[in-house]
Amino acid sequence: MRGRRTSTDSVGPWPAALLCLGLFVAMCVSPERAGAVERSLRGELKRVLVLHSFGREFRPWSEYARDIKSELERQSPWPLDIQEHALLTARFNNPGPEAPFVEYLHSLYQGAQPDIVLSIGAPAARFVQRYRARLFPDTPLILSAVEYRLINRADLTDNDVVVAIRNDFVAAFGNILQLLPDTRMVAVVIGASPLEKFWLEEVKRELKPFGERLELVWFSDLSFEEILKRASNLPPHSALFWGLMSVDAAGVVHESDIALRSLHAVANAPIFSYQEPFFGGSAVGGPMHSVAETSSRTVSAAIRILGGEKPASINYEPLSFGPPRYDWRELQRWGISESRLPPGSEIRYRESNAWERYRWQMLLITSVFLVQAGLISGLLHERRRRRLAEVESRQRLAELAHVNRYSAVGELTTSIAHELNQPLGSILTNAETAELMLKAASPDLDEIRQILADIRRDDQRASEVIRRLRSVLKKTPFEVRDIELNDTVREVIGLVTALAHGRRVALTYMPASADLHVKGDPVQLQQVILNLIINAMDAVSDADVKKREVFVSTARTGNQAEIRISDTGPGIDSADLGSVFDPFFTTKPQGMGMGLAIARTIVEAHHGTIAATNLLSGGALFTIKLPIIR
Ligand code: ADP
Repeated sequence: MRGRRTSTDSVGPWPAALLCLGLFVAMCVSPERAGAVERSLRGELKRVLVLHSFGREFRPWSEYARDIKSELERQSPWPLDIQEHALLTARFNNPGPEAPFVEYLHSLYQGAQPDIVLSIGAPAARFVQRYRARLFPDTPLILSAVEYRLINRADLTDNDVVVAIRNDFVAAFGNILQLLPDTRMVAVVIGASPLEKFWLEEVKRELKPFGERLELVWFSDLSFEEILKRASNLPPHSALFWGLMSVDAAGVVHESDIALRSLHAVANAPIFSYQEPFFGGSAVGGPMHSVAETSSRTVSAAIRILGGEKPASINYEPLSFGPPRYDWRELQRWGISESRLPPGSEIRYRESNAWERYRWQMLLITSVFLVQAGLISGLLHERRRRRLAEVESRQRLAELAHVNRYSAVGELTTSIAHELNQPLGSILTNAETAELMLKAASPDLDEIRQILADIRRDDQRASEVIRRLRSVLKKTPFEVRDIELNDTVREVIGLVTALAHGRRVALTYMPASADLHVKGDPVQLQQVILNLIINAMDAVSDADVKKREVFVSTARTGNQAEIRISDTGPGIDSADLGSVFDPFFTTKPQGMGMGLAIARTIVEAHHGTIAATNLLSGGALFTIKLPIIR
């Protein structure tokens, strides 16, 4: 069971009241929690004091402190109370007296010593070492994240553990030349605080061997504003080395991270650093200190000490740089080839390409496309098959209609023969008369001319009968064209007039006053009309029917052309109204029952309708409706 409390400078250390309150709340809340607080009251609560070198948000140390704290909280088997204080004086060029801060800490921890003190960075380490006798005489101390050169070895005691790091500037500059062998100049950014001045000298000393190969430019005498100006205007084959920037030469204090980001925004050369907290956004990368390694050593030492181990028994060698790491985005920006990176390098922040980033979306879209394409081709195939089937069925329909037409025309045979006989008989009589007149000594030529004109008229009448008959019996495939419906109906009327006479039926046709243009096959539509008129004549030919009349009319209603065929027959039995269009439905002894079925199929193929009703006056009424095209 673990727990933690973290407090800051403004809060007193571990007030007893808080513990009592904790116990009270815990007892009210859960037995588990109550157990933890009880243990802490028995002395198991571990009190940890963390001392920061600069501000609490000052990189790179803020990252070390954050990692150490979270690891400690994760690994500690005891509940922890972590107090944090920041030694702001380390930032200033001319540090003020530290006495008030020491007194403040003294009053906080007097009589309530922490179980362990952790200092982060060199200034904090030096501070604790200097004042430990007064502040924490018996408390074990871990000096963490401190460069080995800055350790005050003279003041180290058996109660101390050092988790040191080693800055290797030769390795850092070797990395620059490894990546960019043409580099001729490196500008070094290091601030002007006492600590930074120390490092400036160290860097200068260590980099002496590079003197011949590289021009080293030191920005430590410049204000940060001036540094930004210079960094934006570096000559070709330059690089920037980011050491540390807490106070610039103008005495202005900077948060290193923000300063680095402003430099990155304007610099016209790549920036290198050896601190992990500066990696990931601004620096190209290379060998660098690993925050995780330092914090893991620090936490392991802290736990061992809190568990009762003697600090003197814990010894670590200074940590060198970890394996090199590079920022892919910076490598791209400065055109650094991956082949230049040392073996074992790790590349971070690689931006995935569109395929890697949207792989699932792309796969999904592609599969949707494929499914769609499959569906479309399936539908196209289906459509083609349907078209073929339609053509096929029309062909069959045309054939069936043709057969049916023969049977309908069969009905007309007698009347047609009669209709033909009449003109032929007149022609014969007229021809004989003309012959006789020509035998006379002075034939009356005018009379003969008159006779010849009659012969011509009769001949035309006969050929008109034959033309009509041939046109309705024509065997043609179903063929749609623009037709005028009044004329189409008139043709049929012409064909059946003789039959109507023969059957003593009064056939009346009333065409619409305006033209009715529809799209259709004239032969097929004529067949429908012919069928309906013959059916109507059949109906009125019944012995019981007194009035033998058939009316045919055409009209326009809205966008539709209507053909109405009615009669004065007995009408259709109301029980049969729904079945008259069914194939093989007939009430006639010699009927085939196909006429109306074929009529409906033909009308529907013209996108029209056909309906049968009975008139109030008694006869049947058939109405055909076809869409008008203009
Ligand atoms: P068929 O004329 O060979 O019987 P149809 O399909 O043309 O075949 O007609 C089917 C049936 O519809 C006819 O047998 C008849 O009963 C009925 N019918 C058709 N037209 C009329 C009409 N004008 N008056 C009364 N009944 C009709």
